[in-house]
Amino acid sequence: MDFLQRSIPGVLIYAFMWPMLAWGMEFNDRAPTFSYTFSTLFIVTSILRLAHGILTQPFYAANPNAWRMTMYVLAFIHSCTLALLFILVLIIPEYRDLAMAVALIVVGLLSGASASLSPKPIFTQFYIGSLAFPATLVSFLVEEFRFLSPLFAATWIYFIFLGRRFYNEYQRAFHIEMRLKENQVKLERLNETDTLTGIYNRQYFDNALDMQWDLASRSENSLSILFLDLDHFKKINDNFGHLAGDQVLCHAAHLFSEIARRKTDMIARYGGEEFAIILPATEKQDALDLAEQIRHAIENTPCRSDQGLIHLTVSIGVNSVVPSPQGSPVTFLDQADQALYQAKNNGRNQIMFAAAQAGSTSLD
Ligand code: GH3
Ligand code: MG
Ligand code: MG
Repeated sequence: MDFLQRSIPGVLIYAFMWPMLAWGMEFNDRAPTFSYTFSTLFIVTSILRLAHGILTQPFYAANPNAWRMTMYVLAFIHSCTLALLFILVLIIPEYRDLAMAVALIVVGLLSGASASLSPKPIFTQFYIGSLAFPATLVSFLVEEFRFLSPLFAATWIYFIFLGRRFYNEYQRAFHIEMRLKENQVKLERLNETDTLTGIYNRQYFDNALDMQWDLASRSENSLSILFLDLDHFKKINDNFGHLAGDQVLCHAAHLFSEIARRKTDMIARYGGEEFAIILPATEKQDALDLAEQIRHAIENTPCRSDQGLIHLTVSIGVNSVVPSPQGSPVTFLDQADQALYQAKNNGRNQIMFAAAQAGSTSLD
């Protein structure tokens, strides 16, 4: 694709250079058939190359090999037409006054090709050869222009090296760009990840909740949320140490991920030992069932820490609504938080559902 884009300026040069030269040197009047034939050849090939570029998407999707071959063949038709023009201008005595101007075009396009076609080094060398070889040979054979032959040969060698150099530089730039893109993806991921547990962080959660709220609102789907807080976590830290506490947090995050495993479920560490799970397209009862599965799993799966087995429990506030325009994700979350507070007050290791909120359609 890059190769195609880079060759577009050359396609335009091919379309205009000969018609402009022939017009400027009044060659159209002297040899109309010859002049217009080449003008037509250059312009039609340019139109075909542009059409090929415009139709890239469907053409490439249908047959990438045919798309690639067409691109190479059309570029070759251009270079061979120019080579033929140069040969004829050199060997037909009446046209020889055009020779130096056409030679200039040949050298100009050779230099452009060595740079712009660099993504495909073998094709570039063929392309350069298809122009430089006939130019070197024919100028050598026509005595009047023999002095041009070593110049063409030297230019040819020069552009072979230049083409290689451009290719190496292109490759280096390409690799650097790829690495930058990879690092960007990594950075973005880091930006949204909690470093201890590897699940999403609060910043990502806040954005995701806003987005899911809008999506659910538009599709009139129910949206559920679980707000989870490990019980007496301070005691775990005090009894087993902070590092063991960290292991417990990872253990809990892992269990949550094992249970809320739908692709659309989103688990985040909201704060120290608080977690939140967004459950899109999930109704109240399913959210409550999932919360119970989590509560049960946490209670019955102690964490194997370096300090031995650590038993833990979790309290969960649940909320579920079909979002309405009057409601807000902040209130939705706040209600789940209040439900969690109630669960704590009622003795912990339990689940509470949020009271219906203004602006939301209660699912009770
Ligand atoms: P409750 O049952 O009411 O939730 O009591 P709790 O002890 O779990 O809650 P509290 O808010 O009193 O204590 C939370 C503790 O979590 C305090 C804090 O030191 C600890 N904590 C916060 N972040 C981390 C962390 O990243 N690692 C560890 N090990 N502990 C953390
Ligand atoms: Mg706690
Ligand atoms: Mg807490």
